[in-house]
Amino acid sequence: MTALLPEDAAWLASSTGIDTDQPCTHYDAAHGRTCGATPTRQYIPGRRCYQHAPDRKKETR
Ligand SMILES: [Zn+2]
Repeated sequence: MTALLPEDAAWLASSTGIDTDQPCTHYDAAHGRTCGATPTRQYIPGRRCYQHAPDRKKETR
């Protein structure tokens, strides 16, 4: 796993902390596959990494 940015670590720390190493299930249409990134958190639509968290504001970084 790659090193976490401070904002990623803070995001992860606010999660329930269970199974954070399960892959992101966000479907990436551009690549024709699911994201698969880790760490992730469990959301109602499914497991999402930091970039694909549904409560995250749409922004580029
Ligand atoms: Zn993702």
